[in-house]
Amino acid sequence: MFYLWVIQVCHMDNFDSLIDVISYFDTEIKALQYLEQKRWNGQPTCPHCSCSKVYRFSDQKRFKCASCREQFTAKVGTIFEDSKIPLRKWYVAIYLVKAHKKGISSHQLAKDIKVTQKSSWFMLHRIRFGLGENENLDNQLEGTVELDETFVGGKNRNRHADKKVAQSQGRSFKDKTPVMGMLQEEVSEFIERPSKNNPNRMVMEKIIHSPAIVRCRVVNNTKGVSLKPIIKEHVKEGSILVSDEWTAYQGLGSDYDHRIVDHRVKQYVNDNGDTTNSLEGFWTWLKRSYIGVYHSMSKRHLQNYVNEVAFRFNTHTMKDGDRLNYAMAFISGSIKYNRLIGK
Ligand SMILES: [Zn+2]
Repeated sequence: MFYLWVIQVCHMDNFDSLIDVISYFDTEIKALQYLEQKRWNGQPTCPHCSCSKVYRFSDQKRFKCASCREQFTAKVGTIFEDSKIPLRKWYVAIYLVKAHKKGISSHQLAKDIKVTQKSSWFMLHRIRFGLGENENLDNQLEGTVELDETFVGGKNRNRHADKKVAQSQGRSFKDKTPVMGMLQEEVSEFIERPSKNNPNRMVMEKIIHSPAIVRCRVVNNTKGVSLKPIIKEHVKEGSILVSDEWTAYQGLGSDYDHRIVDHRVKQYVNDNGDTTNSLEGFWTWLKRSYIGVYHSMSKRHLQNYVNEVAFRFNTHTMKDGDRLNYAMAFISGSIKYNRLIGK
C-alpha cells in the first residue's frame, strides 16, 4: 500500500547512495526547495493560518502570507524548525539513520557530518520523533496480525531486551520497560519459473505482494487493560490475531479471529500453522540496535527509539534512496512545536 506513495514522491530525485545525496544537495537553497516540494507539492501554504495566498521573497527562502502577514520558510512546523544546522546535513543524517541496519550512534553521526555530539543527539532525537509522529495511522493493520510484548532496558547489561519469562510475576521485570508489538504478516507466494542462467531448469521465486508492517507502543504494564485498547485502535476488526497464551489477550475473540500458540508447552507453531515468529524476528532487530548502537535507551525516549527501529524494519525491502524519500515524506509533514519539545 505504501509503495504507491513512494512512486509518487520519487519523481524529482533518485538517491541510490550517500554520494548522490551529497552531490544533489550542493546548496542550501536546493535543500530548502526539496523540502518545499515534499511538504507542499508546488502549492506553498502558510503554516500559521493555512492560507494558500503567499508571496515568495527574492531570497528564495522566505514567504509572506497575504492573509495573516506572517513570514515563514518551509522549515516552520517541521523537525527542522529552529535548527541552525544546514538542511544538507540533516538530509545526510536522515540517510545515514535509514541506511544503517542497526541505526547510528550520536557519536558516530557527529563525526560523519561534523557537528557537535550535542547537536547530533538532538538531530537523531528529532528524526525519530518525526518518523513516529507521522506514522501512517490512517490505515489499521489487517490480515494476520501477530501480537507479543518484549521488555527493554534494565540494569543488568546481559539481560537487554530478552524475552519475557513465562509465568514470572506479572510477566515483567522491575527495571525493564514493556513494549507491545503488533505485526501484520507479509503476504507472499512462491512461483516456479525458468532459471535465468539455464532456461531448462525451473527455480522457485518468492513474490512479496505486501511486506510485513510492525507497530509498537511502549506501555506501563502488560495487563489486558493496557494492551487491548491499543490492539483495537491499530488492528482492523475481523482480522486474524495470533498471540501466545498470555491472559491479557483473553476476550479478543469477540472482535477478531484469535488464535493461540502455546509457548508454555514450547509450541512455536500451532496445529493451524499459526506462529508469532515474524514478531520474534523484529524483537531481534530491536535488541541488536539496542546492544549494537544505543547501549541504553532512557524510558522517556524509548518510544522514539522503537519507532526508528520499526521504521527501518517496515522499509527494509526498499532501496536506500526510496527509503530517504519515504522518510522525507514523513518528516516534512508539519508537526506542532509543543509536541516536538514534549510540552
Ligand atoms: Zn497566514
